[in-house]
Amino acid sequence: MIVGIDIGGTSTKLGVVQGDRVVARARITTARGGTPVAFADALAAAVRDLAGDVRGIGIGAPNGNQLTGVIERAPNLPWPGDFPLAAMLSDRLDVPCTLGNDANAAALGEWRYGAGRGLTDLMVVTLGTGLGSGIIVDGRLLLGPFGNAGELGHMTLVMDGRPCTCGRKGCLEAYVSIRGMRRTYSELLSNNGEEPLEDRDGVLPIAAAAMNGQASAVQTFMHTARWLGVGLANAVAVTAPQKVILFGGIARNGDLLMEPLQEWFQRSLLNIYRDRVRLGTSELPEDDAGILGAAALGTVP
Ligand SMILES: [Zn+2]
Repeated sequence: MIVGIDIGGTSTKLGVVQGDRVVARARITTARGGTPVAFADALAAAVRDLAGDVRGIGIGAPNGNQLTGVIERAPNLPWPGDFPLAAMLSDRLDVPCTLGNDANAAALGEWRYGAGRGLTDLMVVTLGTGLGSGIIVDGRLLLGPFGNAGELGHMTLVMDGRPCTCGRKGCLEAYVSIRGMRRTYSELLSNNGEEPLEDRDGVLPIAAAAMNGQASAVQTFMHTARWLGVGLANAVAVTAPQKVILFGGIARNGDLLMEPLQEWFQRSLLNIYRDRVRLGTSELPEDDAGILGAAALGTVP
């Protein structure tokens, strides 16, 4: 049995994976105890409660470094510094523990259990608050010498464009992410003299407005598709994957994003890749995707 642990900003999900299914689940608050040590204690207790005979543990975390097992200054977690959670947990449970970043976990999850099964080269792009990515080349997850290869979100898409959270300008993530889409939407609303139809966070209100035919919302999806299509086509030129898989909330808006995206992606690809590189969405069950990805990390030799 492998335990997958998916660490998020507010809550941490745990699951026991047998075969390709999650057979038991638990959840703890990420801020529990207030310190990394207290969190590791709580996590170890939760693993013990959940599963008896554990063979391995995989942890997907924001800014998780697979080479060192350290979570490095993750801005969305309650603790500002670096801490070696993989070692802390394997000390407490006496079980091998692999930690990696959440986008790499998603890539391994799709490869092992989802839309990337049977492939040797794929690229998984996670669309959420930010834009993350995990890249598999010749049957191996790409980590690079520092453990952080494949950060497509911070490729410059627009010279002197929007400010990005990384301190630079014009990154893909500043346009294609929940934050980026909301900014695009608010710019278009003011250009078009329209009001938002609903006052809620995330991209669901934009999707709902687009379904209602509101111009600014429809245009937000069209622009986002174009930015993402160009960004993905650029990325394909580097590692030439067989397939690009989109993962996360934004990708679940069905045809609103995917239809224009397929067109922009194929149109932007270098001709040698056109109609050869496929673009699809996650095939992991939504509620268990993070746990399955983390569990896939736990089975990496
Ligand atoms: Zn950036």
